Amino acid sequence: MTSLGSRLFCRMERMCYRLPVFLNTFLVFSITGEVSYLVMVEAPLEADQKKTAWSTWWKAVHLLSQYFMLGNICWNALLFYRTSPSIKGVFLGGEAMGQGWRYCYTCETHTPPRCSHCYDCKVCVLRRDHHCVFFDQCVGFRNYRYFLSCLLFMWSGLLYATLMNAEVFIVILKEGVTLHSVLLLLIPWIMLISGQVSARAFAFAFIADTCVVGFLLVSAFFFLHLFLLFRGQTTREWYSSRRPYSLGLLGNLRHTLGNRWYVCWLSPLIPSPIPGDGINFVITGSLEPCR
Ligand SMILES: [Zn+2]
Ligand SMILES: [Zn+2]
Repeated sequence: MTSLGSRLFCRMERMCYRLPVFLNTFLVFSITGEVSYLVMVEAPLEADQKKTAWSTWWKAVHLLSQYFMLGNICWNALLFYRTSPSIKGVFLGGEAMGQGWRYCYTCETHTPPRCSHCYDCKVCVLRRDHHCVFFDQCVGFRNYRYFLSCLLFMWSGLLYATLMNAEVFIVILKEGVTLHSVLLLLIPWIMLISGQVSARAFAFAFIADTCVVGFLLVSAFFFLHLFLLFRGQTTREWYSSRRPYSLGLLGNLRHTLGNRWYVCWLSPLIPSPIPGDGINFVITGSLEPCR
């Protein structure tokens, strides 16, 4: 009975960890579906512009851009998830230890600089940045490129969806800034449950709200990681005010995104080998906190 209980608990725990992935996937596909609908059926929403803009080829350009972004989000997310950044299966160099090496008592091994133990992944991770709760996976040396590309296309996709949904806001508010329209935009769930709005109006208002909130959140993450990429720092090093491995702007781009850093973000299919092994790093600054 105890083992059945613990198995059930473990399964529930795993489901809780997977929940953000399912929720994210659902939101990404819902937003793409809604924006595709806006382009194909509704655009432009404002009556006076109908049949004047949005020719077939212009709609095709919109749809192709959307699916290019969606494809890149999904493919990068999949590769990020499947590329383990951990030390498992990596030859760390035997007893060759130098500055920055530590001993991990959980993994029972010496670990290289910038490597640290993740208590969620239960393993040490090379050039560990942080543990991403949305994918239940660590961001590290081998999968940083996919993480950043996924973030880039989520940001651009949400920017696009927010601009497209701006028309939804305009149409709702053009009907008159009433308490009803303001409440629909602010608390769509309560308006739906209380029977004040139709399911269609709720779906549009909910997705428009999700785009705005998602865009603000993803912008914060994306620009923080661009800032760290340019500085050659991990989130952990930024927290502890250390920047000992910066190689200058071009060096940082090359050592994080790979040799084809200038083009690899366009598609995860473009090979871009990263110089270095994630174990040895050139020290260019103080290992102590700099402020
Ligand atoms: Zn460890
Ligand atoms: Zn982790």
